[in-house]
Amino acid sequence: MTPILLVEDDRMLGDAVAAALRQDGWEVARAEDAGAAKTALIDHAFAAVLLDLGLPRGSGLDVLNALRQRYDTTPVLIVTARDQLSDRVRGLDAGADDYIVKPFQTDELCARLRAVVRRSQGRVAPVLSYRDVVLDPAARAVTRGGQAVKLGVHEYRTLMALMERQGRVVARDALESLVYGGDGTIESNTIAVYIHQLRRKLGDDFITTVHGFGYRVGEVE
Ligand code: CA
Repeated sequence: MTPILLVEDDRMLGDAVAAALRQDGWEVARAEDAGAAKTALIDHAFAAVLLDLGLPRGSGLDVLNALRQRYDTTPVLIVTARDQLSDRVRGLDAGADDYIVKPFQTDELCARLRAVVRRSQGRVAPVLSYRDVVLDPAARAVTRGGQAVKLGVHEYRTLMALMERQGRVVARDALESLVYGGDGTIESNTIAVYIHQLRRKLGDDFITTVHGFGYRVGEVE
């Protein structure tokens, strides 16, 4: 079963909501800050996201924007406080499917969540493709010539960063921060390792090296 991602930094509220969702038959994954939510959404497919807007390490809107920027149409139900009307409007503008105002009854929450999931079914999410390689951000899946290609988390993120910017050179530094989310210390040659793995799996000339600068997928625009 595809889980729901619950993004909520208030541990007690999160526990209560998670219990209600499980009671309603969902599997639940949790993220307690914006960075963890972004990473989870890159690494896994979810049936829907329940997204609190006020979060540590960025806001719920950042999470939503990042998701929609890569054409991921996973349904998003935003959770706002009563005094965050402008955020609610911005959330809907940014591609949220619905919103619910705190405090809410968990029954209503579950009903709204079922509704956004139901509405999203049959929605066709855009995919990224180049030559015979297709990357489906919503399913977090990659195929080559119709055959599934198994990628590690960092290989997948490297490929997505390049395919999202098809035809453009991505500087090595920029690629590192996209792959690692801009935090943590990085061995300086690890991106090269992922590139090597991707070439092995997708074809030697799938990724072009631009010496002294970075990498590119696709023809020059
Ligand atoms: Ca919060």
